[in-house]
Parts: sequence; C-alpha cells; structure tokens
Amino acid sequence: MAGESRSLAALRRDLDAGALSSRELVDAALARGAALHDRLRLMVGLREEAARAEAAEADARRAAGEPRSRLDGIPIVLKDNVLQQGEPSTCASRILEGFVSPYDSTVVERLRAAGAIILGRANMDEFAMGSSTEHSVHGVSRNPWDPERTCGGSSGGPAAAVAAGIVPMALGSDTGGSIRQPASFCGVVGMKPTYGRVSRWGLVAYASSLDQIGPFAASAEDCAWLLEAIAGHDPRDSTSLPAPVPDYAAALSGSVEGLTIGLPREYFVAEGADAEVLAAVRAAVAELEAAGARTVEVSLPHTRYGIAAYYLVATAEASSNLARFDGVRYGRRAEGVKDLDDLYRRSRSEGFGDEVKRRVLLGTYVLSAGYYDAYYKKAQQVRTLLRRDFDEAFAGCDLIATPTSPEVAFRLGEKSADPLSMYLSDVYTVSANLAGIPGISLPCGLVRGLPAGLQLLGRPLDEATLLRVADAYQRRTDHHLRRAGEPA
Ligand code: GLN
Repeated sequence: MAGESRSLAALRRDLDAGALSSRELVDAALARGAALHDRLRLMVGLREEAARAEAAEADARRAAGEPRSRLDGIPIVLKDNVLQQGEPSTCASRILEGFVSPYDSTVVERLRAAGAIILGRANMDEFAMGSSTEHSVHGVSRNPWDPERTCGGSSGGPAAAVAAGIVPMALGSDTGGSIRQPASFCGVVGMKPTYGRVSRWGLVAYASSLDQIGPFAASAEDCAWLLEAIAGHDPRDSTSLPAPVPDYAAALSGSVEGLTIGLPREYFVAEGADAEVLAAVRAAVAELEAAGARTVEVSLPHTRYGIAAYYLVATAEASSNLARFDGVRYGRRAEGVKDLDDLYRRSRSEGFGDEVKRRVLLGTYVLSAGYYDAYYKKAQQVRTLLRRDFDEAFAGCDLIATPTSPEVAFRLGEKSADPLSMYLSDVYTVSANLAGIPGISLPCGLVRGLPAGLQLLGRPLDEATLLRVADAYQRRTDHHLRRAGEPA
C-alpha cells in the first residue's frame, strides 16, 4: 500500500508536500483490504464510494490550504459497534441484521470534524464478548502474522487491519481488554483510555461501567494523535469526564528520567504465563531502566479475584443492556410468530449467538433475587478493593508495567470450546477496566515468531505518561516497526 508502515507524521508530511493524495491513500487501503479479505476476513463493510468522495474533498481542502486537522485525509476503520449515521452496524450479530444507525457516535463526529476518512467497519466478537474474533456472524478473522491463529478480540478486526497495513489507524472498544489484547497479538499499539475520557455516545453498550473506546496505531506517537482527536467531555454521555485534554503529542519528550515504574508481583508469576512472554516484558522494562526510569516492586493483592469480578459485573450489565434487542425496535425480527412472547423468544433465540446467550443467562442469574448479594454485590465490593490496590500502588510509582496477555496469539479453535480458558486469558487486562484506569499495549518483541505485548497502566486521566513512556521505548527499539510477514 502507498504509505504502508509509514507513521501518521510521515503521511502528513507527504500529503502536505503533495507527494501523496488522500485519494491515493484511500484507494490503496481499499485495494489492500480487498486483496487480504479471503485470507484474513478483517473488514465487514466498506464505504468505498463515500470514502473516495471524502478523500477527494480532503485533497481539495489541502490544495486550498485548509486542512481540518493533522488527521485530514487519512483513512481509519472502526470496530462494528461504533455507530455512523446512515451506515449499518451489526456488532457481528445476526440480531442487528438490517439495522442502519440513525445518528453518529461522538467519536465519528469528531473524526469527521478532523477530516479523517472512515473507510469502513471491521470485524469483532459478537457484541464485543470474546477474546478471539471467532464469535462473529461475519466469520472468523485471522492474524496477519499467522492465519492459523487468532488476531485476538474482541476488537480483532481493527487491530489486524492496522497490523496488515490496510489502514494506519483504527478504533476499537475495550471492556475487559478488547483493545489491548488484540494489539498485543497483532504487534500494534492499542490504548484503553481512562473510563470517561472518550465519549461512549454511539458505542453499542456491552457493559456500560467498563466500556471505553480507544485507538489502534503502529506507534505510540500515532496513538497520541488519534486519542487527542477523539477525547474530551461530551454532555451526551453522563459518565464522560469534564477534564481538559492535554496535547498528547507534545507530552512525548522522549525521556523517562525520574519516572518510577511499578512491577506488580502478582503479574509476574511463572505458572500463570508463557516464560518467553515474561522474558520479553522484563527485557522491555530493563530497556526503560537503561533509559533512566526506576523500578519498584508493587503489590496488587486482589488481582486473582479480577476475572471472577469482571465476568459477574460484565455479564450482569450485558443482560440488562441486551434486553433492548427484542425483535421490535432494532434489526432482525422473527417471522411467522404466534404472539408477542413468541416474537421476543424467537427473535432473540435466532438472533444471538451461543456466547452472547451464555452471558445473558449468567448475568440474569447473578442479578436475580437470592443471588444478587452473593454474586453481583460481592463482585462490586471486589471492584472497590481492586481500585484501592491501584491507588495504593500509585502512591509509590508513576505507572505500572505488566504483560498484556499471558501468551502470544493462540491457535484458532484452541479455546473456543472452553469458555473458561478463554475468560482466564483476560487475567492481566480486566483490572484496569474494573478500576477505570488507562492502559496501553505495545509490541515488545517476538516470541516464537509472534508478537508479545507490554502493558503500561497509569493513574486516572494520565494517558500522557503512558504515551510518553511507550514513545520513549519506541525511540530506543524497533519492535513496533516489524511488520507481519517479515522475518524476525
Ligand atoms: N474478553 C473479554 C470479554 O469477553 C473482554 C471483552 C472486551 O473488552 N470487550 O468480555
């Protein structure tokens, strides 16, 4: 592709210099997406004509010396749960077949205002429930590094679209790791901002107290550009934080001098993780130490309850959020029904996949009379303890470093028959959602030819420090420059 593995800054320079047009960028992205479709199945809907027309408009703006922002004319793909007016959104579910959004999500409004070109929608696990992008009505997405393996999930499509060089940037959503884990498996950078940093208006809800939209890109600097474009207060999302958005790119000083990185004892236990992944993460931390950061051991003692608390809170909220898909208001409606009950029952039975049904059942159960205190309330109490763990740890460090996932991309089918093993693979990511803190995953080397991910977790609203440390690391290393399909 024209511009493949070029940074946003390089694309901007080429566009401004007239060495490249937005139209060429969009054509190349569409061609690459189409060429890879049979092999990887990453995109589920393209706005070919609209994207081409918008690119021509961006070229005209640039020629007139009036680009809307530094993202003007640059293509992006969105996870298929981010609404765009007049476009379908399926959340990879049969139940949303035929649904067309009547309005734009806030992030889409902001991307349009910035001049970015929305190329289309990328695949995901149904309603963002999963860690492998195998549970999708559009079929299984594959990892560009090895098509026999998962690209992670649930934002596997957007992560892999960046990794495969289709687009330089993408948006996903992260409820328990769905941006960071696919970023790790695909060898790209992915960030879950602080809960409330990016508006959830127009993001189809999975678990509203955990969901957050965030960027994918090839580098921390590119993520900084994209985050800045989408972040900020939105009165339409009552959980959106009225905090000013810093100039993230300006925060990338290249220095980690004076920073203290906490290493949580509970995240580096040999039994829980692939030894080579842990070694890659330790080597990345050593690199940051060599650059002037200090490290301290910290403890997050309630970590081992994180998965249980997450799968109780997330399923409880999902069972309530997904009640709106009743066959009447959105998408697909069962035909030939006897009465209203039959309409609900059949529309939902036919429309939802097995994993979604499992979660709706589990969530309904934990909210039901007699079980609420034992499960849901207890999980909320654990959530408070997890948040406290982070508060105490951040009293002694500026950020925390961990592996993103205990493993590299697993084989397709390896966990799909065993939901518990799939759930357990989220062990390092769910705590950040439960605590509401920001996290970023960045490539830190190859393990048996597959990318491993370093996760950095920060204080609430301190995305700037995470981006600065990630960028400083990338200035000293070249793991993020390695592309899928290239020899190590
Ligand atoms: N894998 C987790 C789940 O299935 C996280 C998903 C997400 O972040 N959307 O719930």
